[in-house]
Amino acid sequence: MKELVIIGGGASGMAAAIRASEEGNTHVTLIERQARAGRKLSATGNGRCNLTNLDAEVCHYHGEDPGFAGAALAEYPPERVLAFFRGLGLRTVTEYGGRVYPLSDHAGSVLDVLRLGLEKPNVRVLTASPVTAIRREPTRFRIETPEEALSADSVILACGGCAGSRLGGVMDGYALAASLGHSRTALYPALTQLRTAPEYPRALKGIRVDARVRLLQGERPLAETAGDVLFTDTGLSGTAVFEITRAAAGKSGLTAELCLFDEPEETLLADLLARQKRWPNLEANRILTGAAQSRLGQMLCRYAGVSGGLRAGELPESQLRALAQAMRAMRLPVTGVSGFETAQVTAGGLRTGEFDPKTLQSRLVPGLYACGELLDIDGDCGGYNLQWAWASGLLAGELR
Ligand SMILES: Cc1cc2nc3c(=O)[nH]c(=O)nc-3n(C[C@H](O)[C@H](O)[C@H](O)COP(=O)(O)OP(=O)(O)OC[C@H]3O[C@@H](n4cnc5c(N)ncnc54)[C@H](O)[C@@H]3O)c2cc1C
Repeated sequence: MKELVIIGGGASGMAAAIRASEEGNTHVTLIERQARAGRKLSATGNGRCNLTNLDAEVCHYHGEDPGFAGAALAEYPPERVLAFFRGLGLRTVTEYGGRVYPLSDHAGSVLDVLRLGLEKPNVRVLTASPVTAIRREPTRFRIETPEEALSADSVILACGGCAGSRLGGVMDGYALAASLGHSRTALYPALTQLRTAPEYPRALKGIRVDARVRLLQGERPLAETAGDVLFTDTGLSGTAVFEITRAAAGKSGLTAELCLFDEPEETLLADLLARQKRWPNLEANRILTGAAQSRLGQMLCRYAGVSGGLRAGELPESQLRALAQAMRAMRLPVTGVSGFETAQVTAGGLRTGEFDPKTLQSRLVPGLYACGELLDIDGDCGGYNLQWAWASGLLAGELR
């Protein structure tokens, strides 16, 4: 019997363990430092787990060499990943943009089938066991936890990255890999919130809108996207914002521009003039009643400089035009990008040049493999990161 130890019982580690256990001559020990395997998974996709995306092409991935992801994604494209999950009993549904979720709408279902898949005589799951060291012995590996030392023919590093630290993101994987001679690129938080001057977002905290977002440096557009935007007490969150934070990393002089009403300025102005005519006695800051949530409508008026205390009928056209402009382009100075605590993924990781993309085996240490977020590959928002975790975990689990 060959002994395989997988360090990290997250998405990629569980997939690797199930795949490796299909070989009857392999005994798998999956070691997880937290009390339960897959803790982060239950929080993914706002508790719904966006487990893959049908359009998982390499262009949705980042890193020093995004092409590294190509071999694993070609070997385990979304259709094959979904077949793997179907085989475990999971039923799924595909939504807008090719995003796939469990039919139950609960991330817990994804976790449940993975745990079920691990219930095999040749799989042992050790939880609450942080691996503290790996040593290369002449022909085997020695893996140490506070309770015991294990010996293995092969080791898969599946420790994830340091994003989502509240859910267990740690630096352990980088340190364990470094102890065996591997190096990493710089790490920074990706798919995270933008911090902005707090005045407007704080007052709008909890409001979610569908908007177009542009990230500007001075007047130069750096990134643009559309979708879900959530106002928080420190700035902006939501999937549309996650997609542009990558472009914000390490830059200054940035502004986030929200287009809340994607219509020509003249059309918006005509609507405001019609509202003014219809409700001349309405308080001016309620002129957007019915067009936007009331807190947002009032905030847009304040932002546009609509005079407090006036009636709608008293507003000069210049103020209505300023409001129409604000509805199309509300600008918030960006003060930074939120850290690893709230980030969904770590950009950067173990240098991919030190691993064979077709096997995910180390080029430096035979018998050592790595998969998932620990490697210098991260994906766009929309199921791409879990797709990478499954694809790379399944490939590493083949122990080619
Ligand atoms: C809030 C949130 C929501 C997300 N939503 C989505 C989504 O909907 N779709 C999507 O595609 N991606 C999503 N992601 C990203 C996705 O969850 C990760 O990219 C993915 O889980 C990475 O898989 P992994 O196996 O590499 O790492 P993880 O899933 O992080 O697993 C690594 C595991 O290793 C363990 N570990 C670390 N060090 C040790 C050690 N020394 N000894 C033993 N065990 C150790 C950790 O405790 C952890 O359980 C989300 C992330 C977050 C934080």
